Amino acid sequence: MNVMVAGGAGYIGSHAVKQLLDAGHKVVVIDNLFRGHRAAVDKRADFVQADMNDTDVVEKALREFQVDSVMHFAALAYVGESVEQPLDYYHRNTAGVISMLRAMQATGAKRLVFSSTCATYGEPETMPIVETMPQSPINPYGWSKLFVERILLDTVAADPEFGFVAPRYFNVAGCASDGSIGEDHKPETHLIPVILQAALGQREKVSIFGTDYPTPDGTCIRDYVHVEDLCNAHILALETLKPGDAKFYNLGIGKGYSVREVIESVKRVTGVDFKVVEGERRPGDPPTLYANADKVKAELGWEAKITEMDDIVASAWQWFKNNPNGYGE
Ligand code: UDP
Repeated sequence: MNVMVAGGAGYIGSHAVKQLLDAGHKVVVIDNLFRGHRAAVDKRADFVQADMNDTDVVEKALREFQVDSVMHFAALAYVGESVEQPLDYYHRNTAGVISMLRAMQATGAKRLVFSSTCATYGEPETMPIVETMPQSPINPYGWSKLFVERILLDTVAADPEFGFVAPRYFNVAGCASDGSIGEDHKPETHLIPVILQAALGQREKVSIFGTDYPTPDGTCIRDYVHVEDLCNAHILALETLKPGDAKFYNLGIGKGYSVREVIESVKRVTGVDFKVVEGERRPGDPPTLYANADKVKAELGWEAKITEMDDIVASAWQWFKNNPNGYGE
């Protein structure tokens, strides 16, 4: 297939680009490099630096590269920032996809894999989370993605030739197993990279955000899915996508690790001891989130291969150790 990867210079997008190319697809990346890195884009891919909201430019690129399918990762993804700057989130994450859909409509590209999130569920009352549970986001980030889910459903209703799959991600983690690409967020707020930076001595300490949650060790529990497993699910989804498809899948490993368990794993894998302090809760963090991923297994035959925290951490450590300054830009 001729695939456009929107946001292909970002953390997840760059891993998807590599796997699409390895699977024999042709790839053009479109990215505004606001938070992405040109160096993260596989050299085998074409690259267009542009904003998703610039419909004319996106349309031109779709035509030039004869794109038939789009994977859309381009988004802002900090919950706290979304509360402070909601319009940026609706502009980039929601309007940006409308712009892409218009460009796709103009050129006849009919297949889309769109990154959604478990943040669309808000604070579910029961675990694990199944796709049919009510969606009630608790921040603009979650809403910006849920609005797109609705828009995609309406787009299919109006054009049965169009089809989409929208995976809802849990906590994506880890780096390419061959060490070629990794994770480089500025600012970095995600748990595993933050702990690895402490192991590298780049941070003085790790703060645990809350130790009084109703969980066995008092810290939050999350479902960490390896980025390569996650990208494999995208490729499966794309390759099996049919006209009229409108599918949502939870992508997680189906079990959770606590913050303390992740810290212990990093200490084990790196062999480094670092300072850990118990801090206040971070506003908006639900105590426990993990997926029921039965649907994607039943329908796509996908399940995560990497489910041990030490393996996830080891793949990330390989990248952080060898690239202490990330992509160095
Ligand atoms: N967390 C923490 N200390 C940190 C960063 C994160 O205790 O320095 C906790 C956070 O409160 C959450 C979990 O680690 O319970 C995962 O946070 P992350 O930001 O990686 O992902 P999120 O769950 O917010 O998508």
